[in-house]
Amino acid sequence: MKLYHICQYCNQYYHIEQTDDGVDGAFEVRGVCEDCARQHGLSGQMILHTRYH
Ligand SMILES: [Zn+2]
Repeated sequence: MKLYHICQYCNQYYHIEQTDDGVDGAFEVRGVCEDCARQHGLSGQMILHTRYH
């Protein structure tokens, strides 16, 4: 499956990862990209919200 890491501040996909587990579909991972983490001082304390499609 594909993991789409989307930034909850700028709504950009900052990382797309193809996993090798044989599972179909996409999995969205809400997080914070490095730029926004730096701007908001969130480094090291990201809160992730996930949902399946
Ligand atoms: Zn961002």
